[in-house]
Amino acid sequence: MDTPAAPTPPLLQLDDVQMHFPVREGLFLRSTRSCRAVDGVSLQLRAGETLGLVGESGCGKSTLGKCIVRLHQPTAGRILFEGTDLAALGQAALKPWRRHLQMVFQDPVESLNARHTVGEIVAEPFVIHGEGDARERRERVLGLLDKVGLPAAAADRYPFEFSGGQRQRIGIARALALRPRLLVCDEPVSALDVSIQSQVLNLLLELQRELGLSYLFIAHNLAVVKHVSDRIAIMYLGRIVELAPADALYAAPRHPYTRALLSAIPRPDPRGTRERIVLQGDVPSPINPPSGCPFHPRCPHATDRCRVEAPALRPAPGHPDHTVSCHLDL
Ligand code: SF4
Repeated sequence: MDTPAAPTPPLLQLDDVQMHFPVREGLFLRSTRSCRAVDGVSLQLRAGETLGLVGESGCGKSTLGKCIVRLHQPTAGRILFEGTDLAALGQAALKPWRRHLQMVFQDPVESLNARHTVGEIVAEPFVIHGEGDARERRERVLGLLDKVGLPAAAADRYPFEFSGGQRQRIGIARALALRPRLLVCDEPVSALDVSIQSQVLNLLLELQRELGLSYLFIAHNLAVVKHVSDRIAIMYLGRIVELAPADALYAAPRHPYTRALLSAIPRPDPRGTRERIVLQGDVPSPINPPSGCPFHPRCPHATDRCRVEAPALRPAPGHPDHTVSCHLDL
């Protein structure tokens, strides 16, 4: 009898990752409280997979992305990349791993140095990692520009000479320079016109197919990630509240917050059966998060239990790959 194949280990595994920033207050700027931007996130990302990470502004999703690529040193938890805990590495030990995890930023204007040519910007990772001589770098830069749909002449121009969509292509070319395994895409199309968004999303999908990339795709609304994600994680106040295959999440969302986010997506509904769920109040401060379930002040289903007991993230009954953090089986 054949032995069943061992499950493939995840490319990335987060174990209880926390990122708490000290809040300095008072005359002597003492740190007495902390902002719990990321408050115990555990999840996995498989090779070749796109995991969407969705939540409102300030929920901690960008901070989590920066922890993964180690632009932040997490306060606690493990960030296992191919089994190595990046959170435990110092800067020198981290350097060889940085090439495997790159980030595409939301605002291509701010993330590209305006005083450098596009060629210099895209070649920067080669310089930092000491790869190739000037001629080799130039060749590789031209290859990368071609891959993202920009002409060779772009290398000698400056970022301000390009449109928003083209600047994002430059940012993607730079992120690809060191042939990473994982790209953390932090709202990569949010700053772009709607007509350009699909071009950049299609480019990311093509590159994934061609290069076998994995993506953590961060967005603040579910409409953007729908067509690019294999699975989607919903984040609220620094925690994951629902995680499921994309189809299951759109077809049968279980957490009240996910339902509210989904109801906000405009779509033709000729029968008028879908009701918009308007959440009351603002997202609470991560400096002073609510007791119990962090969503309870805004949840239409909250009970007394929700106010005192935080729900664990657990599989929905009969759906082992659909996890949700809610006391009720909605
Ligand atoms: Fe709402 Fe309670 Fe579920 Fe939290 S645990 S989402 S407050 S029903």
